[in-house]
Amino acid sequence: MQRPAFYTESTMSSQTQIRTRSQALQQRAERYFPGGVNSPVRAFRAVGGAPPFIESAAGAWLTDVDGNRYIDYFGSWGPMILGHAFPPVVEAIERAARNSASFGASTAAEADLAERVVACFPAIQKLRFVSSGTEATMSAIRLARAATGRKIIIKFEGCYHGHADGLLVKAGSGVATFGIPGSAGVPEEVAHLTHALPYNDIAAVEAAFDAHPDEIAAVILEPVVGNAGCIPPAPGYLAGLRAITAREGALLIVDEVMTGFRVALGGALELHGVDADLVTLGKIVGGGLPVGVFGGKRVFMDLLAPLGPVYQAGTLSGNPLAMAAGIATLSYLQEHEGEIYPKLEATSRAVAEGVAAEAASAGIPLTLNRVGAMWTWFFTPDPVTNYDEAAKSDTVAFGRFHNAMLNAGIWLPPSQFEAAFIGIAHGEEEIAATIAAAREAFKAVLV
Ligand SMILES: *Cc1c(COP(=O)(O)O)cnc(C)c1O
Repeated sequence: MQRPAFYTESTMSSQTQIRTRSQALQQRAERYFPGGVNSPVRAFRAVGGAPPFIESAAGAWLTDVDGNRYIDYFGSWGPMILGHAFPPVVEAIERAARNSASFGASTAAEADLAERVVACFPAIQKLRFVSSGTEATMSAIRLARAATGRKIIIKFEGCYHGHADGLLVKAGSGVATFGIPGSAGVPEEVAHLTHALPYNDIAAVEAAFDAHPDEIAAVILEPVVGNAGCIPPAPGYLAGLRAITAREGALLIVDEVMTGFRVALGGALELHGVDADLVTLGKIVGGGLPVGVFGGKRVFMDLLAPLGPVYQAGTLSGNPLAMAAGIATLSYLQEHEGEIYPKLEATSRAVAEGVAAEAASAGIPLTLNRVGAMWTWFFTPDPVTNYDEAAKSDTVAFGRFHNAMLNAGIWLPPSQFEAAFIGIAHGEEEIAATIAAAREAFKAVLV
């Protein structure tokens, strides 16, 4: 697929990487925001750097306030699969804004976007729009508890489902059964209802159901993990979870906030041909504006108020600007599905494997995990199939690599435990520049 013509050809000018304006803005931001940020990972603490402040972005390129340019491999943590300032999305938002930013009453756009979501995700018969992935998973869990009359939730170590109390649990290695709080401020009584099990281990799930018959409301997972770095599900794992939950009368909640519309138009469910009771979406579905979705089987969704007893609401849910951006994004993906996903597979493979090959030549052991347009270079020689294995990575080496890449104008996610993303605006030039930068960056890792 050709790059759409409106992407201006980039000039691969060498970076000056003076960041004096970013540094001044960071100092100002620290007066107002804890850590200077409105979401913790943006502070770059995991890689020890000072975060550049962004002024603008177009296609695959970010420009910071000091005029440095970066090839973007985090895409606003996932949403920007069509590239930044994609004209159809910008125009849709502009058009919607002229009719007022919000009404708090129903619009046709909500059902327009819903039709597209349902077309991509057959597991979703009915849905609700919310304003973030956090809200989506939080609401899905409330619904699962109401539907089953049970309290316990099973999640998996290393999976992130937003920052609701009951989901900030990742049982430490010594705590096999009962959850321990993953954040201060989460009451033990809440954390105890969440059991965190190792990913890709069906036997652990069977054991949990044996230990707690008729007490487990739902199993929630990332169908391809992104939030511990990229970890694919083992063959048969998703189908196995589907079979166990169906047998035990628990709901399977598949959290496709990251993977939906990324690993395939219909997410990991399409890729693996499995069904779910509830699905959560976010990121791409809003085209860069704040949108989350929870949806699934009609019998569960109809438990929501005003039809049923489960309360859930949102002042800005289904916001017209957000719906417009989502419609523009999904319609482009749907209309060009046959070109876009093979292209993303090819470009992500080229850059992910190209960089891994440079590491091999430099004698640096890396494990590459990739599923379509998301991947992670783990700085470990061993396979990574769960969180404990990911945690063996050399995060100091990753930090050096990240800093060297940033200075060379390549913006990678600022943690070893995040997935890198590519979008349709990345072309051969960006990929070649990235591989060349990695060749130099690996020298810095060895120092
Ligand atoms: C990003 C993410 C969330 C949280 O979404 P927010 O919009 O940041 O609240 C939930 N689940 C997964 C899998 C995610 O990647």
